Amino acid sequence: MKKVIIRKTEEIENWKRNINSDINFIPTMGNLHNGHKKLISTAKNDNSNVNLVSIFINPLQFDNKSDLNNYPKTIDNDIKISFSNGADAIFIPSIEDIYPSNHKNITLLKASAELSSALCGLNRIGHFDGVCTVVNRLLSLIKPKNLYLGEKDWQQLLILKNLVLTKKLNIAIKSVPTQRDFDGIPLSSRNIHLSKKERELIRFFSNELLEAKKNFQQEKKINLREIIRKLSAEKISIEYLEHLHPYTLKKSEVDDNISILAGAIRCGETRLIDHVFLMKRSPIIAIDGPAGSGKSTVTKLIAKKLKLLYLDTGAMYRALSWFLIKENIDYKKEKNLRTILNNVSIVFKSKANSHQDVFINSHCVTEEIRSQEISSIVSTISSIKEIRKFLVAEQRKIGESGGLVAEGRDIGTTVFPDAELKIFLTASIDERAKRRKSDKKSKDSKEMDLNKLKELIKKRDFEDSNREISPLKKANDAIEIITDGYSIDEVVDNIIDLYNDKIPKDIQIQ
Ligand code: C5P
Repeated sequence: MKKVIIRKTEEIENWKRNINSDINFIPTMGNLHNGHKKLISTAKNDNSNVNLVSIFINPLQFDNKSDLNNYPKTIDNDIKISFSNGADAIFIPSIEDIYPSNHKNITLLKASAELSSALCGLNRIGHFDGVCTVVNRLLSLIKPKNLYLGEKDWQQLLILKNLVLTKKLNIAIKSVPTQRDFDGIPLSSRNIHLSKKERELIRFFSNELLEAKKNFQQEKKINLREIIRKLSAEKISIEYLEHLHPYTLKKSEVDDNISILAGAIRCGETRLIDHVFLMKRSPIIAIDGPAGSGKSTVTKLIAKKLKLLYLDTGAMYRALSWFLIKENIDYKKEKNLRTILNNVSIVFKSKANSHQDVFINSHCVTEEIRSQEISSIVSTISSIKEIRKFLVAEQRKIGESGGLVAEGRDIGTTVFPDAELKIFLTASIDERAKRRKSDKKSKDSKEMDLNKLKELIKKRDFEDSNREISPLKKANDAIEIITDGYSIDEVVDNIIDLYNDKIPKDIQIQ
């Protein structure tokens, strides 16, 4: 495709008519650095859409005239960088193009009051309104499918997500983690204004934040006063340093697993911001749902794509059922069970192709636990209090440090009630029976009459949903996905989008 530079808003329509493709849009104010390169190349590698970079220094978002006048302008180099990193087109409008003096097409917007009343919004009056106004104008001209934004300006990212949501724009926001320079400071176009001394100060500040992040992993708490004391001792002028909830930007609560430590400092004439995400444990995705809803297939693929540990809790109930039957144990006698369970060990071992083998007391039972014999008894066994107590404790041990996607019946309600993302996956009974019949794992189901299979699934649904202890049910904060008519990939992509919306890219396992 011929690479083009577009300078007039009227040309956008023409260009759009010719490309015949969805658009990835990467808005910038120029002076492109590695952070922008990452945005452009991420867009390029994400899909086969056409990539449009815009370069426009938006006067509306500057609360300080000299900052606007001094904003670095390197247009020739920006064009080179954009094209060589994957841009197909560059939009370089003039101020008159974006804000015509007759005010046609211009709506001055107000940023979300809640999100802009924290951090930078407190001192940069009107800044986020200006950002919303220009982005809204660009989006209405370009109408992209995806909008690529850096997490470096985290508050801006939240405000723009809110804009897209409230205006019901059909645009997906894709974020890219903060890119840092060799000395740990976040890349920013304003860094070129820093003197050597000022750069040392910002390096001290950024490294303090990174150090706080590391310490938080061990100590699970943060001492803001101590950080402020250290920064002040270096004569760093702090505009703010706050420990907040990463999405509401309200004060962080003790229960928050993920929080943000964000600060702004002044170095001479230059104002710089930086932040880190603090995390008590890595993120957890809980996927619950009835038999045959597609949980296993979807969960495995998500684990692979997001590089998370995969935990199939159903396999644990099945393995234990297999063991109790094989050992002829009267599982109804709960007292004996406790002693028996003390000597049970269930482990998963990964094989190639993201398959896992299940072992119970060193017996590999991967295949046997999928028999109809086990399927028909597992619900009864899994309703026993001692069994649930034992397996829930085992599952929590596996998920102690997070970084996993677990599937089952009670993951979001009981095992990991504080999971960052909870999905309730379901499908009609017809669809689920059909899936079970074609499931290679369940050999017996393949040979069974479809109606018989439906009856068995219904029976298991009933038992799982009506047992006394942690029955199968949707957690209040779970998102229900009905998978009838959707391909596996569509469901997986949907869940990954939800995950990306809940977890900053900066802390996703890369
Ligand atoms: O998911 P799968 O069909 O392998 O689960 C087998 C059975 O294990 C379920 O029908 C249910 O009775 C039980 N189970 C449970 N809690 C979980 C996972 C599975 O009770 N978290």
